[in-house]
Amino acid sequence: MTNNLTPRGKLSIGLSGTGRRFGHLELPWSRNDSAWGTLRIPLAILSNGEGPFTLLTAGNHGDEFEGPMTLMDLARTLDVDRVRGTIVIIPGLNYPALYAGTRLSPIDGLNMNRAFRRRRDGSITEQIADFVEAELVTRADAVLDIHSGGKTMFFHPFAAIHKLADENENRRAREALIAFGAPIGMVLEELDNEGMLDTAVESKGKLFVSTELGGGGSTTPETMFLARRGTLNFLSHIGAYDGDIERSPTRLMSNDQHSYIAADDAGLIEFVCNVGESVHAGQVIAKIHRADQIGEQPRRILARSTGMVLGRHFGGHIATGDFLALLAQDVE
Ligand SMILES: [Zn+2]
Repeated sequence: MTNNLTPRGKLSIGLSGTGRRFGHLELPWSRNDSAWGTLRIPLAILSNGEGPFTLLTAGNHGDEFEGPMTLMDLARTLDVDRVRGTIVIIPGLNYPALYAGTRLSPIDGLNMNRAFRRRRDGSITEQIADFVEAELVTRADAVLDIHSGGKTMFFHPFAAIHKLADENENRRAREALIAFGAPIGMVLEELDNEGMLDTAVESKGKLFVSTELGGGGSTTPETMFLARRGTLNFLSHIGAYDGDIERSPTRLMSNDQHSYIAADDAGLIEFVCNVGESVHAGQVIAKIHRADQIGEQPRRILARSTGMVLGRHFGGHIATGDFLALLAQDVE
């Protein structure tokens, strides 16, 4: 159900003000071990004079760590004299999930990135989403949401935008994608975009860029570097920060619904190609071994199209229906 009521929750610091300020978003959270308890989600607001209103988020999923650590670092270290306008930084959007190191909230089991449905009276993840959409996204000129593959996926690092209906918005998004400077810039067709922060921002005509920087539930020096440089580049590009854009080549790619490969069997998964590798249609990309049928040949998983293996399942086991791989093609 959609509503336009004032969201639940409040900020401990005002959106207007100057300088670097640390505070939190506070929501009521009554529970067995704290009757009148609250949930506090840490955030920082950096303001300096005229300029855009920018929202930087990470920890939308709690098992993705490049974004949270990068945004915590930038919240402390960004030179506030070089900030233009207001930058709101939320390193752990789904803070309970980040604290637990799980993709979904341990409180209500919800996926934050499917909870942007304006549910003021929903459960706690929906209330966080409702506050962020009503109070921050509506004010924002631009939003950057930093993701990674988490514990069950692994990606060749990319930044992403979506195909938008408006040609000017498409151009603006593509320029921001190139400025971010990830090795791959995806015009991503999502498997399921309902309730995503992405959709909430784009439907209001605001600039949105996200990323998938690695995965496996950990980070590498490369993915941490890409997150930091990309965020600074993004801020400089949109005029929220007085900095030089450190240009780096970005290969523009895209996908469609056929690019997603799901497992049609369960077992032990052996990938015979790496992420970032080019494959041709019909090529074997993985084998699923059935540990309970050792006399059977493993099931071979074929690429349905020619392209790059952009992402894959992470872990040694796979279940029927699990995401297995994502292929991407160059944009002409
Ligand atoms: Zn994510």
